[in-house]
Amino acid sequence: MEKLKNNFFQAYFAMPVPRIIVRTDCPEYTILSVNTAFETLMGQAAEQAAGKSIFQLFQANPPSINGNDLLSDALEKATDTNNPIEIPKLEMAASQSNGTLTWYHIELLPVAETNEKPGYLIITTRDITQTILNQLELEEASYREQTLHEELAATNEELLASNEELSTTIEDLKQSRESLQELNDELEKRVMDRTAELMLAQVKLKEKHALLDTIINEVPAGICVFDGPEMKMEMANKKLLNLWKRDESIMGMPLIEIMPELKEQAFPRLLHEVYTTGIAHSETDARAELLVEGIKRVVYRDFSYTPIKRNDGSTQSIVALTIDVTERSLARLREQQLIEELSATNEELSASNEELATTNEELNEAHEMQRKLISNLEQSELRFRMAIEAAQMGSWHIERKTKALLYNETLAKLFGYEGKTPMTYDQAIAQVTEDCKEKLLAEIEKAIEDGGEYDVTYAQRRFNDGEVIWLRSLGRVTPDEYGNFSVFSGVVMDITEQKEDEQRKNDFIGMVSHELKTPLTSLKGYAQILHLKAKKNQDDFALSALAKVIDQIKKMTGLINGFLDISRLESGKIHLDKSHFNLDELILENIEETSLLNTSHHIIFNACPQVSVIADRDKISSVISNIIGNAVKYAPEQTEIEINCELNDTHARITVKDQGTGIAEKDVEKLFDRFYRVESEQTQLISGFGIGLYLCAEIIERHHGTIGVESKIGVGSTFYFTLPIANQPVA
Ligand code: ADP
Repeated sequence: MEKLKNNFFQAYFAMPVPRIIVRTDCPEYTILSVNTAFETLMGQAAEQAAGKSIFQLFQANPPSINGNDLLSDALEKATDTNNPIEIPKLEMAASQSNGTLTWYHIELLPVAETNEKPGYLIITTRDITQTILNQLELEEASYREQTLHEELAATNEELLASNEELSTTIEDLKQSRESLQELNDELEKRVMDRTAELMLAQVKLKEKHALLDTIINEVPAGICVFDGPEMKMEMANKKLLNLWKRDESIMGMPLIEIMPELKEQAFPRLLHEVYTTGIAHSETDARAELLVEGIKRVVYRDFSYTPIKRNDGSTQSIVALTIDVTERSLARLREQQLIEELSATNEELSASNEELATTNEELNEAHEMQRKLISNLEQSELRFRMAIEAAQMGSWHIERKTKALLYNETLAKLFGYEGKTPMTYDQAIAQVTEDCKEKLLAEIEKAIEDGGEYDVTYAQRRFNDGEVIWLRSLGRVTPDEYGNFSVFSGVVMDITEQKEDEQRKNDFIGMVSHELKTPLTSLKGYAQILHLKAKKNQDDFALSALAKVIDQIKKMTGLINGFLDISRLESGKIHLDKSHFNLDELILENIEETSLLNTSHHIIFNACPQVSVIADRDKISSVISNIIGNAVKYAPEQTEIEINCELNDTHARITVKDQGTGIAEKDVEKLFDRFYRVESEQTQLISGFGIGLYLCAEIIERHHGTIGVESKIGVGSTFYFTLPIANQPVA
């Protein structure tokens, strides 16, 4: 049944030739289906015919001899051999078609899946009644002609006999001649009539041939006939020539010559097998590689090779039927590919799905964590706000580029701002006192540029009452949500009270130091007089005792001066008394002074000649003396202290290198802070207040120089400071 569904059989069955399909259920041969042409021919509707036995439709005449036996034999033979069988002439009973006799040309085409006993027979029926009638008429005419010939012969004999009598009776002869002439005329007329009839029959025959040609050429399948074992092309319909892109010139050529590319493919072999075995072969979706106009093309064909046999059963030629199914096959292949791709995609999708599920879980966990973090953050922010409020701190944000200012209520209160429109950055800066403004702006710019911490103490006037308040502002530049360092924010607190306390303390230190200085100056004076006297009296004990007293008085004076300087610094009262002097000379003076008092260390000085600076000579002197003094204080006796002076285009750099204890990294940062001392066993034994380096840093800063230290524990320290050099040498 599969095969019957095949396109070829469908097309073959649907052709305008009467065809029926019967089951091979001997002896019934039940009708399965009849085509439209058959319905027209037999006047039987398809539904009426289906299910009947073939013998109910075909009632042969006479049934026992030529008819049903002939048909049933043919049906049996076709079923058994699986070969097409032909009944050239099957005479039908008169009752079957309008009371006249009819003749059919019957072809039985077994339909079997390869090499199986056929399950179906396609029976092609052609009405050849007219042809038979024509033949019969011809036979009758020739029979009549024969009779006439015989009659003529008899007449001739009679004429011969009469000839003898001719001489005797001219009259008889004349009569005989006349009758002969008449007979002749009659004969000629009959011959002419018969010739005309014959010609008419020939014309009809030609018409039938033409019809057959039309059918063959209109069939939507390529049909050709290969002759002999060389498979010479005997006939091909237009469709086949079209499929092969060939013309009539291929007629008579062997297949391999027509298409040499088939040599390596299965088709020539299959044709040969059909030829030698006489068994038909058919395939669907067969792949072929053809050279079409010189280009190799892959095509797909449904095809069948059916042998045409001679009377002795040997194959004479093969009818090949080819239908181009390339599009259908390619569509199927594409469909197959698509299914494979789809299943691959499906697998990928399910893998991605699993990954997604895992990612989802991770995301959920991350979300949960984020939620907790946000809640913690909110709590922290709340606590932070509460802390800020409780500490009476103002908070502020400055947009880095636009300098747009945002602040909280406490800040507005601290600043005494009561304006209706929000306070701007410029308004806030305008309130800063002149002596703090420059430093504050520099600190803001520095923080914004470098993105570091910001901690500045400054004074400003309150907006509402103009009173000066001291503020400490702490901040930092933080990245925004896009990672840009665009937000500068922090807190500000009022430290006026603290500042006032410090001021009072400074004033006190200043006052005490000042008060101490007067008695100390007179003490120093008396000690120096006594020293001179002892020298005169050559009182060695008094001399050395008084030298120590003077030394201690100097130390004390230095300390008191330090405290005085601090109090002046803090209250902003420090004053730089600048003069043009030679830095080398000042360093040398300090070295000499130290050497006089101290002989325990070897001081080496590599001076740079003619380094002149414009600075406060006394204060720079106290810086040098402090740094050298520390080197002496914190380096073991008998070690070297190396003082160097280096120059570049703008600055002089003084370094003091000792071989002392060295300073730990954590201490280096704080070394220049007020009252900072390194806490160690050694430093505990050395007296000091931690104000020397603080003062040095303040003094150098006020001279627009830098100060610092490079140190290594156990190796020593190198303190340095720089000062801008003067353009002109000292006059
Ligand atoms: P003081 O010496 O009076 O304590 P300074 O401000 O001069 O105060 O010095 C601060 C601290 O720095 C000192 O207490 C000391 O610990 C450390 N220091 C200063 N100079 C040196 C040095 N050359 N070697 C090691 N430590 C030093």
